[in-house]
Amino acid sequence: SFSVAIVGRPNVGKSTLFNRLVGKKLALVDDTPGVTRDRRPGDAKLVDLRFRIIDTAGLEVAAPDTLEGRMRAQTELAIDEADLSLFVVDAKMGLTHVDQMLAEMLRKRGKPVVLVANKSEARGSDGGFYDAFTLGLGEPVPISAEHGQGMIDLRDAIVEAIGPERAFADEEDDDEALTDVDVPFSDAEDEDEEIELAYDDSKPLRVAIVGRPNAGKSTLINRFLGEDRLLTGPEAGITRDSISVEWEWHGRMIKMFDTAGMRRKARVQEKLEKLSVADSLRAIRFAETVVIVFDATIPFEKQDLQIVDLVLREGRAAVLAFNKWDLVEDPQAVLADLREKTERLLPQARGIRAVPISGQTGYGLEKLMQNIIDTDMVWNKRVSTAKLNRWLDAVQTQHPPPAVSGRRIRLKYMTQVKARPPAFMISCTRSDALPESYVRYLINGLRNDFQMPGVPIRIHFKSAD
Ligand code: GDP
Repeated sequence: SFSVAIVGRPNVGKSTLFNRLVGKKLALVDDTPGVTRDRRPGDAKLVDLRFRIIDTAGLEVAAPDTLEGRMRAQTELAIDEADLSLFVVDAKMGLTHVDQMLAEMLRKRGKPVVLVANKSEARGSDGGFYDAFTLGLGEPVPISAEHGQGMIDLRDAIVEAIGPERAFADEEDDDEALTDVDVPFSDAEDEDEEIELAYDDSKPLRVAIVGRPNAGKSTLINRFLGEDRLLTGPEAGITRDSISVEWEWHGRMIKMFDTAGMRRKARVQEKLEKLSVADSLRAIRFAETVVIVFDATIPFEKQDLQIVDLVLREGRAAVLAFNKWDLVEDPQAVLADLREKTERLLPQARGIRAVPISGQTGYGLEKLMQNIIDTDMVWNKRVSTAKLNRWLDAVQTQHPPPAVSGRRIRLKYMTQVKARPPAFMISCTRSDALPESYVRYLINGLRNDFQMPGVPIRIHFKSAD
């Protein structure tokens, strides 16, 4: 098992998170900043993860008598002791210099950190969430410790930070036993199904619109909002005052990232300039699903492909929008051509959804929205361990892996380690010798058999000899 330290300045919600993870009212929650909490170590459970939360009580005692000094000493000890730190910031209040100081300390130590943006259920927490990206500790996980929101995302972030091998180290022996004796996974199944059904559509879906300059991003956002608050065209003006805009689409809350607003936030009084790579990257990281806008009259420019590649490398779900469809003369032929190019030029996202639209006339926007939501569901997809192992047997029988020095490679056990995007772990003999072509065979098979088109799929291999 591994150990976790919960660090952060007072009043960000550390104790509430502790209580939620340990499931007991051990910690004393006090709203007064700086009040010493009575925290004890606990055995934490988070979905299917088990870990120890290390004791940070008493660490404050010997520290210098300033808030900063106490925080510094406490955090230092906690991160040294733990395998991983959960660094909690308050998305509602925003960041303070103490957060910055703690972040710098965490960065310097170089140990695994999961950045947690707590109180994310609160109105106006987007700014704090966005600012948390600037701490240089990777992507913040928006949660609400109080309301229990974002716990599955937190679980996934922990698995990612510490690595699936380590996160599930204890289960190793059981896993081997299960595959060898072919027990029907009776115990594991319930918990698995629970995770499989975990898609949460009560949360707003975070969407970003990216694309080359003049592809029609601003026009599209305006159209979505049914208003004309953003000026478009070569002398584009900026009238947004927040970094995101939110609206409801057939009962689902959609939160769209406003790159213009964000740019302004990053540098006040900045002269208007075209979207830079850094801007796009920020938008991509903010989002869950990214709409990549192509100008259908000049599609698949080098820059278009670079943007798609960036989105997928960041592990995001992506939907292509072929914009300015109102200018296309032979829609059927052009669409067939674009679809063929998509499959050929973007093999890393086989099955990616591509929708012809016109931001100007509004054509295709319903369909685009539906595709955004469908893609998000695929990105969030979780397949039960029982199903995966039945599948693994079947694909291996159909197309056995090669032999190495007279012994056939055997794929023994498979489990999904996280979603968003889907990532799997397979334990197998001689994982080092498994050919790249076989890995592609597995990925394509997963895509087809579990309906996961258009999202990046990752497989970790663990040797099991
Ligand atoms: P951005 O740089 O990606 O935000 O692009 P803009 O939204 O500013 O659009 C660039 C230009 O393309 C403007 O002159 C728009 O009027 C035009 N444009 C955007 N979408 C469409 C569309 O669907 N059809 C047509 N015909 N023109 C469009």
